[in-house]
Amino acid sequence: RIAYVNGRYVPHGEASVHVEDRGFQFADGVYEVVTVVGGKLADEEGHLARLGRSLGELQIPWPVKPAVLKVIMREVVRRNGAQNALLYIQVNRGVAPRDFRFPANPRPSLVLTCRRTKFQTARQLAEGVPCVTVPDIRWLRRDIKSVALLAQVLAKQKAVEAGAFEAWQVDPDGTVTEGSSSNAWIVTADGVLVTRPASNLILNGITRQSILRLAGELGIPFEERPFTVEEAYAAREAFISSASTFALPVTRLDGRSIGDGTPGPLCRKLRQAYMEYVGSPDPV
Ligand code: PMP
Repeated sequence: RIAYVNGRYVPHGEASVHVEDRGFQFADGVYEVVTVVGGKLADEEGHLARLGRSLGELQIPWPVKPAVLKVIMREVVRRNGAQNALLYIQVNRGVAPRDFRFPANPRPSLVLTCRRTKFQTARQLAEGVPCVTVPDIRWLRRDIKSVALLAQVLAKQKAVEAGAFEAWQVDPDGTVTEGSSSNAWIVTADGVLVTRPASNLILNGITRQSILRLAGELGIPFEERPFTVEEAYAAREAFISSASTFALPVTRLDGRSIGDGTPGPLCRKLRQAYMEYVGSPDPV
């Protein structure tokens, strides 16, 4: 495996940043995960646009121009011979003596890694996955794809300990915000697709945006609005979306069956449409 660190391609085991990198010290950095499916980068433009937005919100300069980053992304994929993989990109504010203040002349660090994956198992796709709800204990700038992920780490661990695949985080008002590393969707009894609108309270998933566009093209009725846990229990279908799960059916929530307890048709349709848009067959 080959990684990229600040201008050099290095063996994965030797890839490292300095102990005074602000990403390490303060989680002062942002990231993206771009999926490689059948050798193709999925939703590359969307992920680069969001990276630019996250950097802008934190006033971190681009480490290289986006066009150069695209070249590096392809080179990392190529050097890893990756067909189905997760391409990870992280930008930190850079190395500076430990001080909360921004350094005067930041030299942002850029790291890319690539890991081959099968995404999900065929069984997870065929049966759907269980999720559990947990309180959302994160900060109020969840729209920034920050590497400060401790709340999501704790949420996912709670899911694992409950035998679930993902944790759906819930705000104090009882509405579902999103998964620990995915956006949350339901289909109401009337067949309306519902997901929370983009705001500071969720990360606006790139897969989420593509699925909404595809739903529009397919004539599937949808609403962007918050929904409660109770509504999710009563939903006809539920699913999650992310770069690595595409659209993955959720068939149990907090131990209750969703709908008839099997993956629903809208999730299947949208996953298929997403794969067609990416231009590769479903890798699972
Ligand atoms: N929400 C959160 C909190 C996430 O971490 C992710 C995945 N990084 C998503 C949503 C899904 O975003 P995307 O579709 O861009 O992978």
